[in-house]
Amino acid sequence: MKDDLPSDEELRARLSEEQYRVTQQKGTERAFTGAYVDQKADGTYRCVCCNAALFSSAQKYDSGSGWPSFWLPLAGDAVKTIVDASHGMIRQEVVCSGCGAHLGHVFDDGPQPTGLRYCINSASLDFAAETQDNFDDKGDSQ
Ligand SMILES: [Zn+2]
Repeated sequence: MKDDLPSDEELRARLSEEQYRVTQQKGTERAFTGAYVDQKADGTYRCVCCNAALFSSAQKYDSGSGWPSFWLPLAGDAVKTIVDASHGMIRQEVVCSGCGAHLGHVFDDGPQPTGLRYCINSASLDFAAETQDNFDDKGDSQ
């Protein structure tokens, strides 16, 4: 996957202006404006840039912050954190391990068992719902 990352040109063409601004220029969508703030369906949240599975609905919770919030990434190495000292604050920036896209920030005021709050922009994510069809799609037509 790391050898097959989308180019800047491709991302500019494929992503919306907001998705490009957030993921490539470390932007932040306005609170309560993102598509997935109130998303409660079961499924997987993927990186909008490289399609890596990053978060699951199983660890999503309503933090009241106005951004999709998770208390755990899907796998420990799906995302990585970088110290972000911009805007006069020391924060932990969350980026996609696969392509480096900016996702949001992680704070230590989340619920147990991790105590973490991954505060993620909807614009960085692409939600894929789990549907019943997946279980019947084994190519067995008899
Ligand atoms: Zn990615």
